[in-house]
Order: sequence, then C-alpha cells, then structure tokens
Amino acid sequence: EITSVRKQPVFIFTKQDAFDQQRRMNVLSALRSSIRNPEQVMVHYQPIYDVATGRMVSAEALMRIKDEHLGFLPPSQFISLAEQSGLIVHLTKILLSKVCTLVRKNLGECALEYISVNLSGEDFNSSHIAGSLISIIEQEQIAPKKIGFEITESVALRSYEKVSQVMLELSLRDIKFALDDFGTGYSNLKALMDLPYAYVKFDKSVIHAAMADPAMLALLVDMLHTLGKVLIAEGVETEQQLEMVKSVGIERVQGFYYAKPMEEQAFLEMVG
Ligand code: C2E
Ligand code: MG
Ligand code: MG
Ligand code: MG
Repeated sequence: EITSVRKQPVFIFTKQDAFDQQRRMNVLSALRSSIRNPEQVMVHYQPIYDVATGRMVSAEALMRIKDEHLGFLPPSQFISLAEQSGLIVHLTKILLSKVCTLVRKNLGECALEYISVNLSGEDFNSSHIAGSLISIIEQEQIAPKKIGFEITESVALRSYEKVSQVMLELSLRDIKFALDDFGTGYSNLKALMDLPYAYVKFDKSVIHAAMADPAMLALLVDMLHTLGKVLIAEGVETEQQLEMVKSVGIERVQGFYYAKPMEEQAFLEMVG
C-alpha cells in the first residue's frame, strides 16, 4: 500500500529563535504593562538649535520604556514591536499627554516654538486619530501650535490619503509637521510639494555622507528652500559637521554636538 506524502516546508527551530520569541513576549508584556501604568513611559527631550543664533528653538520628545523586569528600553528595542502589535497607538497618546502636561506646567512662557512628537504609520490606521490627538491637546488647555508632529516619508507615502487628511485637519489648529528622516526613503517630490510640511529633517546618514562632498546636499537645500521648508539637520556630532551644515544653508541642528536626548528635569534646566 502506497501512501502519498505531501511535501511540507521544513522549519528548523533553533535555540536562538526560542530566545528571540521569548524576548518578544517579554517586551510585549512590558509594553502592555506600561500602557496600564503610564509612569513607565519615559519621555526624553532633545533640543533643536538655530545655527545662526545658537539658541534652542524647539525640541523632540523621544520615548523610552522603564520595565521592572527588563530595565530601560530604548526605541530600537520596542518601537517596531509596538507598531506590529498596534500598541503604539496607546503609547503615542500617553507620550503626547505627558508632553502637553510639561508644556502647560513649565513651557507655557518660554521661547521654544514647539515640542515635536513622532507619529507611526500605525497611528494613521486608527480611526479618529486627528480628533484623538486634538482632544489630548485640548484637555491640557495648551496652545496647539506648541506641539509639532514628525512623520517619515515612508509612512506618508504608504498612507498618503490618511496622512494628508490628518495633516490638513491639524494644520487648521496651527499645528506644524516635520518630514522625518529625509534622504533615507524615496525622497518623493509629490509628497514634498503637496503635503503641508513646515520642516524637513535630514537624516543623520545624509549629513554624515555629505561630509565627503556637500555639493548634492547644497542643491537639495536650495530646492527645499524654494518649496518654503525650514530645514533641520539630524545627527550633527562634530564641529566639522556643524560647519558643513552651516555652509550649505541648513538653518537648524539637532545632534549630540549640542545635546543628547535627556530626562525632563535636565531639559527644563537647559531651557532655563
Ligand atoms: P528619530 O525620530 O529620527 O529621532 C532621532 C534619533 O536620532 C533619536 O534616537 C536620537 O537620540 C538620535 N540622535 C540625535 N542626535 C544624534 C546624533 O548626533 N548622533 C546619533 N548617532 N544619533 C542621534 P532614539 O531616541 O533612539 O529614537 C530612535 C527612533 O525611534 C526615532 O528616530 C523614531 O523613529 C523612533 N521613536 C522614538 N520615540 C518615538 C515615539 O515616541 N514614537 C514613535 N512612533 N517613534 C519614536
Ligand atoms: Mg523624529
Ligand atoms: Mg529622524
Ligand atoms: Mg530615525
């Protein structure tokens, strides 16, 4: 008697896979726990400076998670899992509400233009995202223009209609947007021209690559200025990079050369 054996793909489950799987489960449970206990969601702030005056003009809010078992988690260890699981939507709201509280309590009178918050593609899949963000800002009774949002180009291109609708809705409240990590994606001209970004942030890889030959970056800068964008260089770590950034006409800088992301208290001391 002949039985036919259907061919199955073969998966080899290694010790490393088991370890990765366990790590994912642990990080997921840390994320769930931090959504129940928002004090485990930490916000670090990194200043953004005007290169002409050397003054701090704004700052970016960056998320970290503090877990009782896993300790301190940087974004590289949890953002993509938070996105895959959809939990990022809750984390974004927690972070935004913390930023708004800080603005109301400590930054209402200061000269900073805004604090920016990163949005993920997943945030745009959730319904009523614009309304939820606005209601968090209104609950804290701060001027909405004190908050900015950063969106990467890949997210903008993947969810173009939704992103452009949310941008328009929030722009009506005088909330501004930055195109994040510019130069790492497709650098799509349509997105740049049609979406109402006020700021474009060059990714640190672009800044570092331009050190050898800044001519191409200088052309990009001219084009973006023609479109009316205010430009920010990310990842400026050395004086030479700062000089190059100035020489091509980028007006703002965020990078370790000036300041690393820091805890709220240290940030407030720097703001003065
Ligand atoms: P991003 O939005 O492009 O943020 C800038 C990242 O570059 C930050 O890393 C910052 O610490 C780092 N950086 C700034 N200056 C320098 C420098 O001079 N040299 C180097 N080597 N790095 C510099 P961080 O805080 O680890 O965040 C990494 C990414 O994780 C962020 O990139 C963003 O995509 C994501 N992320 C962080 N917080 C949030 C959040 O609240 N929500 C979402 N959706 N994503 C977030
Ligand atoms: Mg960002
Ligand atoms: Mg960036
Ligand atoms: Mg980035």
